Amino acid sequence: MTYVITQSCCNDTACVDVCPVDCIRPRMEDELFTTAEQLYIDPASCIDCGACVDACPVDAIFPEHQLPAGMDQYTRVNKEYFDKHPLELLRDPSFPTSPIAVPGDISPLRVAVVGAGPAAMYAVDALTSHGGGNVEIEVFERSPSPWGLARGGVAPDHQRTRTITNIFKAMMGNPAVRAHLNVEVGKHISHAELLRHHHAVVYGVGASTDRHLNIDGEGLPGSVAATDFVAWYNGDPDHADDVYDLGGERAVVIGNGNVALDVARVLATSPDQLAQTDIAEHALEALRASTIREVVVLGRRGPVQAAFTSKELLGLDYVDGMDIIVDPADLVLDEQDEAFLASEACPFPVPRKIEQLRGWASRSSNPTNRRIVLKFLASPTAILGEGHVEKIQVARNELVADGTGRRQARPTGESDTIETGLILRSVGYRGAPADGVPFDERRGIIPNNEGRVIHPVTGEPVTGVYVTGWIKRGPSGYLGTNKKCAQDTIKLLRADVEAGRLTRQVKDRRALERLLAERQPDAISFDEWRVLDRAELARGKATGRPRVRYTDTQEMVDLAKGRG
Ligand code: NAP
Repeated sequence: MTYVITQSCCNDTACVDVCPVDCIRPRMEDELFTTAEQLYIDPASCIDCGACVDACPVDAIFPEHQLPAGMDQYTRVNKEYFDKHPLELLRDPSFPTSPIAVPGDISPLRVAVVGAGPAAMYAVDALTSHGGGNVEIEVFERSPSPWGLARGGVAPDHQRTRTITNIFKAMMGNPAVRAHLNVEVGKHISHAELLRHHHAVVYGVGASTDRHLNIDGEGLPGSVAATDFVAWYNGDPDHADDVYDLGGERAVVIGNGNVALDVARVLATSPDQLAQTDIAEHALEALRASTIREVVVLGRRGPVQAAFTSKELLGLDYVDGMDIIVDPADLVLDEQDEAFLASEACPFPVPRKIEQLRGWASRSSNPTNRRIVLKFLASPTAILGEGHVEKIQVARNELVADGTGRRQARPTGESDTIETGLILRSVGYRGAPADGVPFDERRGIIPNNEGRVIHPVTGEPVTGVYVTGWIKRGPSGYLGTNKKCAQDTIKLLRADVEAGRLTRQVKDRRALERLLAERQPDAISFDEWRVLDRAELARGKATGRPRVRYTDTQEMVDLAKGRG
């Protein structure tokens, strides 16, 4: 199977950046780029990973067998481009293409992968992708469901992005892999025990907490972390009972990254549209009763520095019944920003974002629509209210150079207040420490040297312990970004195995199973989780939705284990 780029391609090249085999052309640096009507995927090189689909801002990429009516010709169009301009591949020449050469005295190599989200699954894939029956992988996941942010983070109205879980299913289905879902490292099994049972431990646990603003009133009821709100609407069992006050007229989102746009869009999308997604039932019900008509998104810097990607910004234009409001005054750029926009150094998507914002600023709005108001140069300074959020105080900023070439926000002294009963703080995720593993408190990651965990003081590698994904590099990038990140880590793990640095005697798979049966009888295997997956899909089919999620851990365990 191959993916195909179709008519609505906007040449944004986000797909080029995430393609792990570099088979999308033309790239920005290619001569043909300036005149290309669209981008094309080489069918002979596509590995069917779906990363480009996730990155595409305009849903222009489809698996060839799911092309919408009238677009069949694009399979041929994509192929013909490469008939004319054969692909010059730039594969990573250093990634090994042979199975790991496990020394005979430790075979099988036993690897624990902690987490079952994109970072962890790409690590599993890198460990197994070259075959060889000499590796056993045990995947430990705290949640009763796998796929991390691909299930619990991606917004429900991005159903196409969620199809990336299909490739994770294939990875988890590899006979070398055993999944232990609903098993928490640090609670049911310790890091020291993982090391007794495995030659190597790879942490791909993501960034499970949120960054703080450190302003007055941050902890008032009604001021919540956007990450929790995301977990709630995506049916995370730990957040299924959370309650949000959606009874006001306005919500305010602090920060303007992609998560901020996700939560703003979910709040401002009509429930009837959300009902066509797999949003959690409890969230759909609450959003049906919501009276929120306006969501204000506060960016502390200017539009040129905004953290959202052009693809997510452009995507807002495709939501029915929703207006995007931008104050034209916010788009008057100073000389330095104008010079940057016109310079070679300016990333390709930035002018596209400014153009889109200017388009909205000059458009009239429909008073019956819900609205997202994008504000710039606005920092929260205090959250006010008696026992609950009532308003937020916002300082007006100007941009100043910080000496590193970055432009930072500085208060001008002017300020304003916005009335609201709900504030979603969306200022970034942060990794959490794992028991027994070094942690860098400042950066919120496990300290590492390109994936090898290191001692925080000496900088020496901690033998047999590795990291991948957000807990390795911090919370940035697309789902597909984790593929290269995991390959880089597994390359080092392979080098350590092949150099004889991981030759400890470890316990076998049966010993691990005995231990887990004792510590967590409610552990869910991948086959058991498939029962749940099928049940969710069947519930969805019965109600005309893609999936209806289970959100109660005990119910999920009972169902997965066929206990009535
Ligand atoms: P993010 O992109 O790092 O954005 C964080 C935002 O918080 C920025 O606007 C930042 O402003 C702001 N901020 C930080 N501290 C602040 C403070 N004290 N006061 C006010 N504002 C503050 O983080 P994210 O939105 O959580 O996303 C995390 C990663 O996931 C990103 O790589 C994102 O692209 C990715 N993601 C992708 C998708 C998608 O592709 N569909 C969806 C969701 C998330 P400054 O820029 O001024 O620092």
